[in-house]
Amino acid sequence: MTALNPSQLEQLNKKLNEQYQALLREVRDELENSGNQHRIDLLNSEPGDSGDESLANALADFNLTTLDRHIDGVRDVEAAFQRIRSGEFGVCIDCGDDIPFNRLQAYPTAKRCIVCQEKREREYAQGGHPKL
Ligand SMILES: [Zn+2]
Repeated sequence: MTALNPSQLEQLNKKLNEQYQALLREVRDELENSGNQHRIDLLNSEPGDSGDESLANALADFNLTTLDRHIDGVRDVEAAFQRIRSGEFGVCIDCGDDIPFNRLQAYPTAKRCIVCQEKREREYAQGGHPKL
């Protein structure tokens, strides 16, 4: 369960929403430039409104390489909203420790505490073969 208090959670939720809206604006621009105006309806729904289908998955179906770099961002934010709903937000997915509020403020989609994140990055740097 998250150790964040309701006002901290509210603050981070707001940040995530801003991040999400900013991503949507960029995606909308790219769809407009690529002549997909009729698909923009998709973007007018609020997070979670599209039922089981996540926006990231819907965007992946467009198969536009220009969108790829945004899709990961959208996916990260959607995953964070999911964790807020399930009460797991702010808890490290690797070790289960609380992620400090100041880390979440800087990086609201963080899934790991700094220790686990650094460990993971070291493992990737060593060629993606984590030692057990
Ligand atoms: Zn951790």
